[in-house]
Amino acid sequence: MEKEINILIVDDNSKMLETLQDILGEEGYAVTIADNIALARENIEKKFYHLALVDLKLDHGSGLNLLSAIRKKNTETMVIIFTAYASLETTILAMQEGAFSYLQKPLNMEELKIVIKKALKTQELSLENKNLIARLKDLSLKDSLTGLHNYRYLMERIVSEFMRAKRYILPLSLIMLDIDYFKSINEVYGHHYGDSMLKEFSAYLKNCARTNDIVVRYGGEEFVILMPDTSKEGTVNFGNRLLEKCKEHIFDRQDKRIKLKISIGVANFPEDGGNSTTELLDAADNALRQAKERGGNQLFPYQSVSGKEIKDIIKDGGRLNIDKLKERLHRMKNRTNQILLESIYAFAKAVEARDHYTGRHSESMVSIVTEIGRKMRLPAHEIENLQHAAMLHDLGKIGISDKILHKRKKLSRLEYEKIKRHPQIGAEIIRDIHILKEVLPMILYHHERYDGLGYSIGAKGKDIPLGARIVAIADVYQAMVSDRPYRKAYSKKEALGIIREGTGTQFDPAIVDTFLEIMQGRK
Ligand code: GH3
Ligand code: MG
Ligand code: MG
Repeated sequence: MEKEINILIVDDNSKMLETLQDILGEEGYAVTIADNIALARENIEKKFYHLALVDLKLDHGSGLNLLSAIRKKNTETMVIIFTAYASLETTILAMQEGAFSYLQKPLNMEELKIVIKKALKTQELSLENKNLIARLKDLSLKDSLTGLHNYRYLMERIVSEFMRAKRYILPLSLIMLDIDYFKSINEVYGHHYGDSMLKEFSAYLKNCARTNDIVVRYGGEEFVILMPDTSKEGTVNFGNRLLEKCKEHIFDRQDKRIKLKISIGVANFPEDGGNSTTELLDAADNALRQAKERGGNQLFPYQSVSGKEIKDIIKDGGRLNIDKLKERLHRMKNRTNQILLESIYAFAKAVEARDHYTGRHSESMVSIVTEIGRKMRLPAHEIENLQHAAMLHDLGKIGISDKILHKRKKLSRLEYEKIKRHPQIGAEIIRDIHILKEVLPMILYHHERYDGLGYSIGAKGKDIPLGARIVAIADVYQAMVSDRPYRKAYSKKEALGIIREGTGTQFDPAIVDTFLEIMQGRK
């Protein structure tokens, strides 16, 4: 016999056991015997049995229980049951538990040998079938040219990886990669040669990826690498290394010594696609397109708002663009809060740059309002709202022309009236963004004064929302210590002096005290 066939015989009649062991041993089977259930259970833990012969009526329990334990351990094991008396009921039960056949005692040895052969043949066929199905499944999920996984596999796998990432709050990244000018390789060297380049490139890619990464031929000369548990930054680094290595690598060393250029798009969950795998794939595809549009041979990480889009919208200020921005934000409302906020932040930063603030005006404001909020023991969500307000307070300046924003001389009355509209415009832009509901009043009233002489509506004292009173101090201070088109920056000391002078007139005295304490504590 080429391969060893293990048979376990369980019977409480030791004479019967010995006889069976002799007969089946002669047939070439490797036979193990057990005269009780406990020993039988021990045996099945130790190795795989192709076949088990089990007496239904055993001293310390039913052979039926043992039968189900054997099948549970390994469904491949074939079980033949025998017993001294025949009962239709137990036969049915044994078959339901997965017994292959049922023999009556006293046993007819020739019949037993035939039933064993049948059982083993059935087992062999079922194993072959299983392997075939597995191979078929494998083939249907692999690309026949390159041996990489194919689009179908990606579609199955990305769903399970996405669910895993969501459940365990892990990042999941996606690289989408396209070979540049691949058509010309086909044109110059022929399609057959193109095929062999695709094969070589696939092997190269697979080799560069980590074992946990899933490398897929997405289509023609497009590939996807699905990277579980990998941050966007990590993926960008990996992609850049891949790009650099690929620039140096020579394909087809023997003959034509070819270099391949590639373009890479990167997207990440949760940063770029929080809702669905489609969103994540779209983001990667979008990023790849951007990499191509910039001339290829480069990597582009997905950005929910592109620089060009920002430029288009804030090009020359004015009403039209506010509407455009509002429409753009409205369209993004289905996005995750984080993506939405990032986009709004991107616009706010662009507006700030246009306003000639250098450096990190709003970020410094965020740090000041955070400290004030903490010192005043405000709840965490209010501090978070303050931070958003600090980032977004001047968003409404998108509606004011460069001519006014950049003017070095004193503003005319009309121009000043226009400037005074920016809190309202900002509030209007974010009006229907649910997550910024509580931030809206802080933006709308950040130019009010404690004595009621400010704008937008001339609110006074505690009628001005607390957040707006805090943002006002941070804003005025940050503006004073920055260079402006019409004056140089004040020193910290001068600026603090001016804030102190504004106590009770321009600013809420309690907040000024808190603010001065914080600033004096800073170096
Ligand atoms: P780009 O830089 O814009 O990506 O240009 P490109 O030529 O690489 O891309 P394009 O999408 O215009 O063309 C893709 C080419 O890839 C066209 C097609 O002949 C070739 N291609 C796709 N699948 C196979 C394949 O299985 N074998 C071969 N040899 N070529 C393929
Ligand atoms: Mg292409
Ligand atoms: Mg291409």
